Amino acid sequence: METSAPARRLSTRFVAGETLEQALDVARQLNSEGISVTLDHLGESVSNLDEASDARDVYLRTLDAIHHHAIQGNVSLKLTQFGLDLSYDACLANVHQLVRRAAELQNFVRVDMESSDYTDRTLDLVHTLFDRYGTVGVVIQSYLYRSQADIEKLCARKIRVRLCKGAYLEPASAAFPEKSKVDQSYMDLTRYLLEHGTYPALATHDEVIIRQIIAFVTERKIPRDAFEFQMLYGIRRDLQDRLVKDGYRLRLYVPFGKAWYPYYMRRLAERPANVFFMLRNLIRK
Ligand SMILES: Cc1cc2nc3c(=O)[nH]c(=O)nc-3n(C[C@H](O)[C@H](O)[C@H](O)COP(=O)(O)OP(=O)(O)OC[C@H]3O[C@@H](n4cnc5c(N)ncnc54)[C@H](O)[C@@H]3O)c2cc1C
Repeated sequence: METSAPARRLSTRFVAGETLEQALDVARQLNSEGISVTLDHLGESVSNLDEASDARDVYLRTLDAIHHHAIQGNVSLKLTQFGLDLSYDACLANVHQLVRRAAELQNFVRVDMESSDYTDRTLDLVHTLFDRYGTVGVVIQSYLYRSQADIEKLCARKIRVRLCKGAYLEPASAAFPEKSKVDQSYMDLTRYLLEHGTYPALATHDEVIIRQIIAFVTERKIPRDAFEFQMLYGIRRDLQDRLVKDGYRLRLYVPFGKAWYPYYMRRLAERPANVFFMLRNLIRK
C-alpha cells in the first residue's frame, strides 16, 4: 500500500512528503504564515533495533536541520518507532540521544502517546529524561479515565503536556466509550492545564471546544503566549487561519516519510466523510 503510486498520492492530504527536504519546505511555508510546526517522521512498531536506531538518526538529522534552517519547530516521535516493543532500555537510550541534542540546540522533543498498553512506559520514560534535560514533553489523551491523575503528576513536575482526545481503539475498561464524555473530559483537563500546567498544547480541531477554550482564557485573563493550539497538517485549514488571524499561537503536526499507512488510516477513522473523499480522489486520479 505504502509503495503503490496511486495510494501514495492519497497520502499527500495529510503528509508533507516522503523526504525531510519536503517537510522543511512545508514548515517554511507554514512559518511564513505565522504557524509553527512539530515534525513527525512516520513509522511505528519497528521489528528490530537497527530500525529503531535508523529512526533515531532521522530524528537527529531533523533536529539539526530545524536548527540550521532556523525553522520555528520541534519534533514529535512515537516510542514504538524507537524500539519500545523490543527493549525499554534500548528505547530510552535512543530517545535520550535525541533529547540531549534538543537540549544542546535549545529545542524540544514531544513524545506522542500511543495505545493504553504503552501509557505507563511512556510516562516513565518522559519523567526520567525530563529530570535530566527538561527539553521533553508528552501527550495525554482525554478518553482515558486515568488522565486527570497523570496530568496532576506532570503539572507538579512542570512537564509540558499536549492534550488530545485520543486516536486508538480502547476497551471500555480504560477509556470513555461515549464521545460526549471524552469531550467533557477534554474541557475539564484543559481547564486544569491552563491553570496549573506549563505551556500546555491544546490539540484539537473541535470548534465547540476551541470556542470554550477561548471563552475560558478570556475570562481568566490567561495570556495568549501562555499556551498554544495544535492541529494536524491538512485538517481544518479554515479554522487554523482564523486562530492565527485572531492572534492565537498555532502549531501544526507535520508528518513526513514513507510509512504513512497507519497514520493515514487513523485520520480516515476519525471522520467517515474522509473515506468518501479518499475514494473520490482515487477514482479521479
Ligand atoms: C497536534 C495533534 C497531535 C496529536 N497527537 C496524538 C497522540 O499523540 N496520540 C493520540 O492518540 N492522538 C493524537 N492526536 C489525535 C487526536 O487524539 C484525535 O484523534 C484527533 O485530533 C481528532 O480529534 P479532535 O479533537 O480533532 O475532535 P473530533 O471530535 O474527532 O473532531 C472535531 C472536528 O474536527 C474535524 N476533524 C477531526 N479529525 C478529522 C480528520 N481526521 N479529518 C478531517 N476532519 C477532522 C472535523 O471537522 C470534526 O467534526 C493528535 C492530534 C493533534 C491535533
